Amino acid sequence: MQQDPNCIFCKIARGEIPSRKVYEDDGIVAFHDISPIAPVHLLLIPKVHVATLYETTAAHEAVLGRMMALAGRLAREQGANDGFRTIVNTGRVGRQEVMHVHVHVIGGPDPLGPMIARKGSQGD
Ligand code: AMP
Ligand code: ZN
Repeated sequence: MQQDPNCIFCKIARGEIPSRKVYEDDGIVAFHDISPIAPVHLLLIPKVHVATLYETTAAHEAVLGRMMALAGRLAREQGANDGFRTIVNTGRVGRQEVMHVHVHVIGGPDPLGPMIARKGSQGD
């Protein structure tokens, strides 16, 4: 499986640096975000290294689909059972910080803030 030796999420996928894993199979790892923005904040990653959604190809369709299909189950298992948000940040404009595709699963008991604050408004 293609990996990047310097990539922090590849290292998590290989178990070389610790994470609070909630799920793992042959192609996917899910773990708690180290700096959560809500009571439930998981990251789902493919074990194969792919930097951003710009680099994904047909070869990644199955694993990306499985990650999306898994999101609801993991959210529920962690207590987000009345809704959650999935986010995939991409590149500079998307403010992606870790260059290994990941899906944020964010939720908790209370409604989240607006997805993106609209200019000139305080929120919703
Ligand atoms: P993004 O801006 O979408 O690239 O988000 C990267 C996320 O990875 C941030 O929410 C970080 O808090 C999270 N993160 C960075 N390093 C780790 C780590 N070692 N374990 C868990 N989460 C991490
Ligand atoms: Zn990687």
